[in-house]
Order: sequence, then structure tokens, then C-alpha cells
Amino acid sequence: MSEFDLIRRFFTRPTSNTILGVGDDAALMRVNPGMELAVSTDMLVGGTHFYLDTDPRQLGHKTLAVNLSDLAAMGAQPRWATLSLSLPQAHDDWLQAFSEGFFALAEQHSVELVGGDTTRGPLNLSVTIMGEVPQGKALRRSGAQVGDDIWVSGVLGEAALGLAHLQEQVMLPEGARQSSLAALQQPQPRVALGLALRDIAHSAIDVSDGLLADLKHILDSSAVAAELRYDRLPKPAYFASNSDETDALAQDCVLSGGDDYELCFTAPLARREEIAVIADLLHVPLTRIGSIVSGQGCKLRAANGSVIKIAREGYDHFA
Ligand code: ADP
Ligand code: MG
Repeated sequence: MSEFDLIRRFFTRPTSNTILGVGDDAALMRVNPGMELAVSTDMLVGGTHFYLDTDPRQLGHKTLAVNLSDLAAMGAQPRWATLSLSLPQAHDDWLQAFSEGFFALAEQHSVELVGGDTTRGPLNLSVTIMGEVPQGKALRRSGAQVGDDIWVSGVLGEAALGLAHLQEQVMLPEGARQSSLAALQQPQPRVALGLALRDIAHSAIDVSDGLLADLKHILDSSAVAAELRYDRLPKPAYFASNSDETDALAQDCVLSGGDDYELCFTAPLARREEIAVIADLLHVPLTRIGSIVSGQGCKLRAANGSVIKIAREGYDHFA
């Protein structure tokens, strides 16, 4: 199979919101009047971000999902993507499953694949995603204000628990194993939530490297500090029922575990009711986990007010 056969067979699908898609030297797209273009790239490296034997359908999903999550955190509507692949070899079955996983999620969000690049090399998957956001409305990391509530969507640490299971650091019972592996391999980017928060949140980020590490980006960009309540953090059900013996693992997963792709955002107290309505409408749990204060850094408190020492912040490829 030639490079061009591969692109035609697996990565060329009809488009309706694109002037010119796959097949020329560049794609052409029209941005709607009054909108800004939001662009983000994320790369998944085989052996670093995922096991080389990962199910290709799930990998196709995740390759796009991590990028959609970045646009969700900006409050942008995803529109187009490009896909750059470096592949050790071209296996029909693998490519078929990978592209199905990719396009299934793309269709769910009306994202069109408009181009990319395909080369031979170590397995490496990179997407550039493009979306639209009304002028001046994007959610930035830099907007947090003293007095804001800090919120998080979904559950924290579920994906890290799944990874701990794959690495045999913990032996999970059937139910917990299923939910944590689903979180790790099939993350559901919070696109609708990001859109709903556009005129409500002061700042937002997606949690990809662990809550503490990602919240720190908001704190640094906004020049503020945070007080968090550990007991309020939404944790995987597994930890709720095994709180004693798995405490260290729970802390590590919930505070510092990567790959959650939930949104962490800050909003004024006056918006609490609207946020609760959004949670109901979208069927996404939204939990208030602390508040923005003046100063520097992040203080974590137990229910009785005592300060909890933080062991590890989050994942950093170069630390
Ligand atoms: P060029 O030589 O101009 O870089 P390529 O031969 O790399 O063009 O690609 C041919 C066309 O196929 C281009 O439109 C490119 O965007 C598209 N393309 C290449 N790889 C992929 C891919 N993995 N997914 C989607 N489109 C791709
Ligand atoms: Mg090329």
C-alpha cells in the first residue's frame, strides 16, 4: 500500500464545512464572521503516552479526545483537525480500527479531518485541532480572581487508577477496573461544558497532568493562590470504599494523576446556581473544591481544617 493509498483509504472522508480538505497542498476553511480561531496541538508518543499494544480503536479515539479537551478548556467549538502519523508499518487492520475510533469521535463533535502528514517511523500520533470562539470570549488561564470558587468536572484520578492497575500497583475488582480503564482509554472531552461556561467562568484549564499541576498553571497565570478541600475532591468510587489502606494511592491519583481530561475552572460565587443548572442539563457532575485567595501557591486542607502535605504535584516529561 502506498502512502497515498493509505491516506485515501483510511483518512479521507467527505466534508461539508470545509472549502478544500485532504488532497491538495493545504486545506482551506472559512472562519465564521465575529469568531476567533482557536488552535491547539497534542502529540501522543508510543511507549511514552500509551503502550504500543493499546487497542487501535481506543487509540484513535484518544488521539482526538486529548485535543478536543484543549478546545473545551478554551470554550471553543471544535471545527477542523489535521492528523500527523508516524507509523513503523502499515497494517490494514490496525489502520482501519484506528481511523474508526478517530472518526467516530470526530463525527460526534462535527469535526472534519482536513489534512495531515504520514511518514514511516516510530509510532507517533499528532493532531492539530482548530475551533471557533466568539471574539474576546475564550476562557483563559489568566482570568482567575480572588474570591472565585474553584470547580472541577467529573471525577479526578480515575484514569491514573486504571494506569496503576495496568502497572500492577493495585489489583482492582471488576467494576473499578472497567470504569478506570474506560477513563484511561476512552476519555470523554468536556466540549459542551466548555461552551456553556463561556460567559460564566473567569478561567479554565483541562486536567491532563494532574489537578495540582494544572491548577498551578491557572494560579501562576492569574497571580493568585488557592485553598482546596481534599475531602471535597470528587474521587473514584473505589477510593470511597477503601479509604484506609489505599490512602497514599488515592492521594497520588486524585491530586497528581494524569489523563483525566476534566475541566478545572474558576467562577464568581454569584454564578453557583447557574453552574448547578449546567451540571444538570449536561449530566456532568460539577464539584466546588475550593477557592481562589490572594498570595502564592496552593494550600490543601482536610475537613477539620488541618493542612495536608502534598507529596507530588503532577506529571512533567522533563522533571
Ligand atoms: P505534501 O507532499 O504536500 O506534504 P502529502 O503527500 O504529505 O502532501 O499529503 C497529501 C495530502 O494528504 C495532503 O492534503 C495532506 O494534508 C493529506 N494527508 C496526509 N496524511 C494525512 C493523514 N494522516 N490524515 C489526513 N490527511 C492526510
Ligand atoms: Mg506531507
